[in-house]
Amino acid sequence: MNTPVSQRFAPGSFRLSCVVPAYNEASLIGDFLPQLVAAVRDLTADVEIVVVNDGSRDATGDIVTQLSAQLPIHYIELSRNFGKEVALQAGLDATTGDCVVLLDADFQHPVAVIALMVERWQAGIEMVYTTKADRDSEPALRRLGSRLFYWLVGSRRGVDIPTDAGDFRLLDRCVVDALCALPERNRFMKGLYGWVGFRSEGIAITMDARPTGESKFNPMSLAALAATGITAFSVKPLRMVTLAGLAVSVVSILMAVWIVIEKLLFGQVIPGFATLAAAVFFLSGVQLISLGIVGEYVGRIFEEVKQRPRYLISRESGPGARPLRPGNTPPSL
Ligand code: UDP
Ligand code: MG
Repeated sequence: MNTPVSQRFAPGSFRLSCVVPAYNEASLIGDFLPQLVAAVRDLTADVEIVVVNDGSRDATGDIVTQLSAQLPIHYIELSRNFGKEVALQAGLDATTGDCVVLLDADFQHPVAVIALMVERWQAGIEMVYTTKADRDSEPALRRLGSRLFYWLVGSRRGVDIPTDAGDFRLLDRCVVDALCALPERNRFMKGLYGWVGFRSEGIAITMDARPTGESKFNPMSLAALAATGITAFSVKPLRMVTLAGLAVSVVSILMAVWIVIEKLLFGQVIPGFATLAAAVFFLSGVQLISLGIVGEYVGRIFEEVKQRPRYLISRESGPGARPLRPGNTPPSL
């Protein structure tokens, strides 16, 4: 049997990696990284901060490269903006720590919580995630959307995707290795954390507000992320299409029976052009929506079969930087 985490690492004698995805964070990252390093150095001396510059168009890259002279930073620059999910994966692929903490570059994830996470990890928990304790402050529509989303992705047998759990979490090396071994391109990290399993525990925290700048996620990009999550983790929409088809068929059969009975009993012929037109429009709508839902899944299959690398790295520096292969793919891909 493998030795439990708690026995492998005495307090202060482990390597801690942090993964920080950053997209246009020039206003904050220069203050954030020194604070992060100060907080984690209290926990262990052996620290690495993997900063993934996700195609920023501002000075984020320059600021991080300058800080690399004083801080233990492994800097990775992606060749364009690939999105947070992929940036996190690029960071995970580069980590070498015994445990890895994922957190945002905008001070919203309080660094003081990392000590608590490490404590739970040392007690044998392999994945320590955080949940938002204060969801009530969000707009009602967003909360409703998030409920619907978790209903759609949440009930796959055996896969536990805790409601409102964020990306701010600590992963043991075994969890990181499992995540990195998953080959899919259509990556929805919150689902993948649940899919890999392992001993997990949540901590409810209050997220801080972003001091400057604004969230990179607007309603459209959140909807796109939700579509990625749903198509990657659930076939419920396809089942709903089947059920809608069944319901419409049953209703149309009942209508046909009713028309025959009416004709036989009362000799009436229903004029109903308007009814007919409405039915045709309704059915066309149902068919187009169904086609769209099926198309979402087919599109994801198309993305997967192309087998493109998940991301390209244009620059990498600091301790642990890996030589790039032709095409700039990291060695693990
Ligand atoms: N981020 C990223 N790529 C993106 C969008 C965001 O790496 O395409 C990073 C961003 O720099 C930040 C984290 O992901 O460190 C969370 O982003 P943001 O604060 O905009 O999201 P929110 O807090 O609203 O979820
Ligand atoms: Mg944020």
